[in-house]
Amino acid sequence: MKGNINVQTENIFPVIKKFLYSDQEIFLREIVSNAIDATQKLKTLSSMGKVEGDLGDLTVDVVVDKKTLTIKDRGIGMTAEEVEKYITQIAFSGAEEFLAKYKDKGENLIGHFGLGFYSAFMVSDKVEIITKSFSGAPAVHWVCDGSPEYTMEECDRTDRGTDIILHISDESKEFLDEHRIVELLKKYCRFMPVAIRCGEESDWVDSETEKDKDGNPKRVEVKKPRIINNTEPAWTKRPADLTDDDYKKFYHELYPMNFEDPLFQIHLNVDYPFNLTGILYFPKVRKTIDPNRNKIQLYCNQVFVTDSVEGVVPDYLMLLHGVLDSPDIPLNVSRSYLQSDQQVKKISQHISKKVADKLEQMFKDDRKDFENKWDDIQIFIQYGMLTDEKFCERAMKFALLKNTEGQFFSLKDYREKIAPLQTDKDKNVIYLYATDATEQHAYIAKAKEKGYDVLVMDSPLNSHFLNLLEQKIDKARFVRVDADVVEKLIAHEDSIPSKMSKEDQDKLKPIIEAELDTKKYTVMMESLESSDQPMTITQNEFMRRYKEMSETSGGMSFYGDLPESYNLVVNVNHPLIEQILNDSDTDHQKQLVHQLTDLALLSNGLLKGEALTNFIQRSVDIIK
Ligand code: ADP
Repeated sequence: MKGNINVQTENIFPVIKKFLYSDQEIFLREIVSNAIDATQKLKTLSSMGKVEGDLGDLTVDVVVDKKTLTIKDRGIGMTAEEVEKYITQIAFSGAEEFLAKYKDKGENLIGHFGLGFYSAFMVSDKVEIITKSFSGAPAVHWVCDGSPEYTMEECDRTDRGTDIILHISDESKEFLDEHRIVELLKKYCRFMPVAIRCGEESDWVDSETEKDKDGNPKRVEVKKPRIINNTEPAWTKRPADLTDDDYKKFYHELYPMNFEDPLFQIHLNVDYPFNLTGILYFPKVRKTIDPNRNKIQLYCNQVFVTDSVEGVVPDYLMLLHGVLDSPDIPLNVSRSYLQSDQQVKKISQHISKKVADKLEQMFKDDRKDFENKWDDIQIFIQYGMLTDEKFCERAMKFALLKNTEGQFFSLKDYREKIAPLQTDKDKNVIYLYATDATEQHAYIAKAKEKGYDVLVMDSPLNSHFLNLLEQKIDKARFVRVDADVVEKLIAHEDSIPSKMSKEDQDKLKPIIEAELDTKKYTVMMESLESSDQPMTITQNEFMRRYKEMSETSGGMSFYGDLPESYNLVVNVNHPLIEQILNDSDTDHQKQLVHQLTDLALLSNGLLKGEALTNFIQRSVDIIK
């Protein structure tokens, strides 16, 4: 029989070929998944008693030959009527619809549009189908060379199932290379639910006959069929049937090049109001954010779709690893549509909720273990709190703060701990923190002398995160330990009287300023305890934090463009400061000012290079 494919356009194949050029390879996924579907359908019918006898070996074979690539299955097969209906009418009209929709948007085409059977023509000059239905109807041989004409006739195939024979075109010769085909099968079919075989691979085994010189069996190479896929990946199993080791094993199967174990995982299993399974792994990230965000793989019924999951996964979880599998994520649409799709939004929210559940459960069940993981997961949690309102609400319960002693506190517990000593005269609770416990050591020590507690806040998102906490926690202020001299970090009522008169202070100030870069340092006269340091460098919390925030936000802004600026706080009650004022030897006076400002810079980690060398030389000279 000869027929005409029912299409309006004279010859749409060249057009399709051109549009889909970069995504040509998906033809293999489409044809193989049809073979898998046909096999699964057969299994279902058999379990319902509608197919008689043993089903036999159901492995799908992919055979690379000189000019052809053949995909063979032993599934339900098709009758002549079915080929006519499903292949020549439905499949082709689907392709035409696709063209009508996307003709003008070539560049928007996405790789995972399911063109189905039709995509075979992207790489073939001619496609043959030889198929026999499980129903016993005569076998059919269908041939089409890409024009709207096709032929279909009965043939003598006796075995149930379908062979799709692709006569690969000259431009698509790469698909006649077995390595390339295996590579593609591994990418798209790695977890399909029916075994797929392609070519052979080597295996080294003990020989049964040959022995080496020590009398041990010789290792010999044997060829065995190459099976591409793991038909039962971990995410398709019930969580109760998996051990922690099974999860780890699967992680390494997914990422053979990642040698580190993941921290923990979340197994997703939802069937209402949408279908979603998957496993998300928390990797170790520490401080550097892995620029490779495309680690999560998206599957549709075990068929690989894509590894860019923007929109499906909340932004802060893009750094996780693992797999998601959902037949309910529309695959044949553009990314911007994906992001506005209600179903996809629900899926994304669900994932976020599951992550919060898991973290809260870990926090409750094994606090110590959760604390041990904190350094690795804090960045996810902070990022999540900053970008996802609902997650933030949940995380307020399990987010932790760490102090310089390495103790962890929940937000609530910490506030209770510090409130008695660290509440200022306006009833604000002042949270003191250091971003670098080594560099800010002198300031931390001073704060501790006062009985204050100091947090370590060293994540790259810190300044944003502190702002958030100040909004979320009533009357909370975060102040870095070097933002002011310790007396002023937490402003209590009582102030210390000054021993130096206002006039003397006015006389002293220019003497100190003369030795300083006043664009960078502002001299401030303060009356502090005489036992406190004579001079201290501080940096205004507000200015510093906003500068940091605009830097990490990437944008140019007023704060980001400001130069670094510091205060030089002069303790007018310190005897050495009085000595500067009263020194009649100007050289000696200058030396004293230099020495004291250098010491202040040194304890803030700001004395470097030549200035540091000069300071050391000067100090040695003084000791001599
Ligand atoms: P889809 O798979 O999205 O339905 P396709 O164009 O890939 O669209 O296939 C059209 C139809 O042809 C399938 O739904 C199926 O009924 C039939 N078909 C394709 N390949 C096979 C096969 N190997 N065995 C049996 N039926 C097949």
